[in-house]
Amino acid sequence: MIRVVLVHPGEFVLPELGEQLGRYASRKLAKRGVEIRSNAKIKAVTSAEVELTDGTRIKSFTLVWTAGAAPHPLLEKLPLPKERQRLKVNAAMGVEGYPGVWALGDCAMIPDKHGGYQPPTAQHASREGKVLAHNIIANTRGKDLIPFQFNTLGLLASIGRRTGVARILGINFSGFVAWWLWRTIEVSLGFHRRSIGRSRILSRLVNWAELIPSRQRRKDPSESKASSPDTRVPRCFDDPGADAAATER
Ligand SMILES: Cc1cc2nc3c(=O)[nH]c(=O)nc-3n(C[C@H](O)[C@H](O)[C@H](O)COP(=O)(O)OP(=O)(O)OC[C@H]3O[C@@H](n4cnc5c(N)ncnc54)[C@H](O)[C@@H]3O)c2cc1C
Repeated sequence: MIRVVLVHPGEFVLPELGEQLGRYASRKLAKRGVEIRSNAKIKAVTSAEVELTDGTRIKSFTLVWTAGAAPHPLLEKLPLPKERQRLKVNAAMGVEGYPGVWALGDCAMIPDKHGGYQPPTAQHASREGKVLAHNIIANTRGKDLIPFQFNTLGLLASIGRRTGVARILGINFSGFVAWWLWRTIEVSLGFHRRSIGRSRILSRLVNWAELIPSRQRRKDPSESKASSPDTRVPRCFDDPGADAAATER
């Protein structure tokens, strides 16, 4: 029997998706046997134990770290204005007071029109790149710069067993519909990212529809116990057969 403990610093998981979907996801995971330790962070890890900020010690030989990445250490050394360890830029992605210095993506804090900052995601970074390329050229030609403006298209997460949560263009989805949307987007991105053969296209479509169990599932004896907690190890998010990994688009 595997014990799965999910440590989260907030009240509920997936806060990016809002309270309603976050609490839904927390409830679903708890129902499947995942112990959620909310309002706590990991303070220390040894080879046999994880210590939380609230003083709890959990015996564990396996830790899966999903708490995100820190800004690149090189940024610390740059004598430029910063906010939350990232370079502070204006909406056109220029560093104020430093003509010719620009920043975008995960190293930059780019203001949005709501008084906050653009989130550090690929869907933003790739679009910022296009606007910044335009601005650099415009700058050299003495033309007006354009501010970066983009609203997140959607955030989707699979929480396993054909259940998901999603916010697309401001509308919330949960349960099977959200999982199906997540799955469909994952598979379509898989087609887009690589050129793959016909047999793999067919296998991906079959996997997508879950018409037949995947090889991995056939090998997993716990799948036959409907009442047991969902203790499957989350697979790679890029794998179209994956069923329990979070994604953001
Ligand atoms: C595990 C994980 C999952 C994610 N999933 C999603 C997702 O599903 N959807 C989404 O939208 N976003 C996702 N993100 C966020 C997304 O990857 C980043 O926001 C995005 O890649 C930022 O783009 P970037 O160009 O700023 O930085 P990066 O994509 O990190 O590119 C920086 C590049 O700089 C290179 N580099 C580093 N140091 C140096 C140096 N000294 N000299 C030269 N080059 C250097 C690096 O090798 C790298 O190629 C995820 C991030 C992580 C860590």
